[in-house]
Amino acid sequence: MAKNPVMTRENSDDIARFLEGTASFADVVFGFTGDSDESEENLRHYANGDGDGDGDEDQSPCNVEENKAFWENQEQLLQATICRTSSLESKVRKATKEAMKEISLVGLQCVCRRPVTGGCRDCLQREISIRLRNVGYDCAICKSKWRSSPEIPSGAHTYLEVVDKVSSKKGEVMRVVVELNFRAEFEMARASEEYNQLISRLPDLFVGKTERLKNLIKILCSASKKCMKDKKMHLGPWRKHKYMQAKWLGTYERITPAPLPVQQFSESRQKKPRAYSMLTFDLLDNLHCTAVEVL
Ligand SMILES: [Zn+2]
Repeated sequence: MAKNPVMTRENSDDIARFLEGTASFADVVFGFTGDSDESEENLRHYANGDGDGDGDEDQSPCNVEENKAFWENQEQLLQATICRTSSLESKVRKATKEAMKEISLVGLQCVCRRPVTGGCRDCLQREISIRLRNVGYDCAICKSKWRSSPEIPSGAHTYLEVVDKVSSKKGEVMRVVVELNFRAEFEMARASEEYNQLISRLPDLFVGKTERLKNLIKILCSASKKCMKDKKMHLGPWRKHKYMQAKWLGTYERITPAPLPVQQFSESRQKKPRAYSMLTFDLLDNLHCTAVEVL
């Protein structure tokens, strides 16, 4: 197996260190920084390391092996990142699924200015947030918004978060991100089979700590970059690592829908506790399917 540098590494240790934040993503994948030319050179260097000197190191068999190793590694990392979960994350995930189940039973009514049959993403987030608050979680709607930079265009995104002081060590606040359309955020129309397979492992409903999300974004953005590079296609700026980070990990406004007593719920929901502009409604079409799939 000397031909395959990636598989000879002690992957599980590296993955563990990556998940703990003590190893970089590049360390885990190839043991060097993942940027373009340098890494390719290194890859060749590694690939030729078995020294059989047959002189066909730039031929496709090597690339096939390298590619295979890359995608296998991504999948391992992704699985390891998704599988690990703390009790708070599990509890929030369960409560969110429960809330979505209840909402699908009673039906979701839009209370926003742009009502959609079956409810829009914003109204679903609001409803889930209220329900999670009713069962004791400090859940809020997060509105992230960022300016354009030379690297990425401006944009905005909304998602949910649950913060918890009790379960954290050292009195820190633990932040759990709840994203209802996680997989859809990474789907690409003309992606490769390998990329699609990787993405298929993602849940629709993502519930996880910031650190876990950070790692997932790294894995997925590295995969989309490689996918498009291999296909010699342009990677949309909204798919860049920085853009994805801005969505969930950048600065945001925290909106807490007014807590409503459960018994007055259906009556009170007619009132708008707080209006917020709908900056992201690109996912409306996905919403209904997702709500059903998750259940
Ligand atoms: Zn709505």
